[in-house]
Amino acid sequence: MSNQDDNSQSPSNTSGLSDAMPKYGLSSGSPLQEAVSEDALALWQRISHRLKAELGEAVWKAWIKPLSIAGLRDGTLHLIADTDFLRDRILTNYADRIRYVASYEQKSIRHLDVHLSADDRRLSHEFITASAQPHDALIPHVKAAKIVEQDDSVMGLDPRYRFSNFIVGAPNQLAYAIARRVAEEPDAKYNPLFLYGGVGLGKTHLMHAIAWEIHARQPHRKVMYVSAEKFMYRFIRALRFKDMMSFKEQFRSVDVLMVDDVQFISGKDSTQEEFFHTFNALVDDGRQVILSADKSPTDLSGMEERLRSRLGWGMVADIHPADYELRLGILQARREQAAIDISDKVLEFLANRITSNIREIEGAFNRIVAHATLVGREITIESCREVLSDLLRANNRRVSVDEIQKKVASHYLIKVADMFSARRSRQIARPRQIAMYLAKNLTSMSYPEIGKRFGNRDHTTIMHAVRKIEELMEQDASMCDDINLLKSLLVDQ
Ligand code: ADP
Ligand code: MG
Repeated sequence: MSNQDDNSQSPSNTSGLSDAMPKYGLSSGSPLQEAVSEDALALWQRISHRLKAELGEAVWKAWIKPLSIAGLRDGTLHLIADTDFLRDRILTNYADRIRYVASYEQKSIRHLDVHLSADDRRLSHEFITASAQPHDALIPHVKAAKIVEQDDSVMGLDPRYRFSNFIVGAPNQLAYAIARRVAEEPDAKYNPLFLYGGVGLGKTHLMHAIAWEIHARQPHRKVMYVSAEKFMYRFIRALRFKDMMSFKEQFRSVDVLMVDDVQFISGKDSTQEEFFHTFNALVDDGRQVILSADKSPTDLSGMEERLRSRLGWGMVADIHPADYELRLGILQARREQAAIDISDKVLEFLANRITSNIREIEGAFNRIVAHATLVGREITIESCREVLSDLLRANNRRVSVDEIQKKVASHYLIKVADMFSARRSRQIARPRQIAMYLAKNLTSMSYPEIGKRFGNRDHTTIMHAVRKIEELMEQDASMCDDINLLKSLLVDQ
């Protein structure tokens, strides 16, 4: 997106503006300087104001307030961040949102660029650590502590990934408890700790949380977090530059080594070999090693047998796919963080329907919020359906009409055959309508297709049923709970 070399100018801080007003302007000679004007400042204030309302005070303070405007040119809004870290965060997490809001304020804005002020570029080479307060999870201007090394491998801890904002539920309870233990007790009881689970289920989040916690509790311990990919890259680089000594030294001098996604080095023999030695050296020396992978040690194909068995020696904890409660819990936490107005119904809908993984749930949440900002409309189940149609389809495939019919029939103690029959008594017709409603909600089938599956009924019958059930769910809370329960039973198996 932005090219750091274009913007070696630092923002002037001498505007004398109050704290509430964003600072702006570049030192002379800036290519952007001529674009900064009172208008631009006012524009940024409006954008910033809107973002505050939308993101909530805490998020706004942490991420948006520290930004300043550099100018507006050719449809691009140029902003300045004081640190590399802030800039990256904005680009990965908030760029879309800022752009939407900006284009709402001024139609001509189509792009966003975030520049780094020169002053703080050195920060990228410093080891950044943070204080232990849980609310710091949202605060990016962590204080720079000690310089560990020039390389940035020690960086990259995401301040949002803390224990304090890790939602615990049955699927991740064990992994969470062990992670906490490892972070709190320095005696390396669970060594190595091997965390595994499918993609997007919180492995990286837990690892970062451990690292933050150790920093807060035992700041003298040197923690290194690295992706397996990076480990390999550095290994190869060391080989090429005949620099194995310092490579080894670097990894073997830490108190806690975390390697994320070790499945990545399966099949890469020489990296595996080196990894094995590093790993052994550390564990034998009583240092803590924490690993993650998408499979259990025994299932890691392409790993040498002795490494596989060694990986499983310590503590192995798996994270299971999120169930309905956990999904809902995460969505509720997001809503609170974003301080945005979304009804429980909508969250329940999302928790019911996006079942793949937590990353996708977060993505869905961000998308509907961004969309709502753009069109300035209330977030409803209908608007979610529209905005997330692709995601919902992808998450749908798992539930079949057969399953729905069986589940609903057994729930209401009627025969499955009654799903197709012409019997009209309320005891039978109502559950049948519920099954139709669920078929519409949990599969991607059309009304006529669903009609066929319910004893060849007309599509208007299905439409009527869906509407009727929606109505009843509005009016009757216990009915609503009942149906939501059925939904989660169907979706969670
Ligand atoms: P993995 O490393 O297993 O692929 P991540 O740790 O990257 O998954 O998690 C994906 C996203 O989901 C992250 O944004 C993370 O913060 C979030 N997440 C995962 N589990 C939880 C949880 N239990 N509570 C809150 N957020 C979670
Ligand atoms: Mg990960």
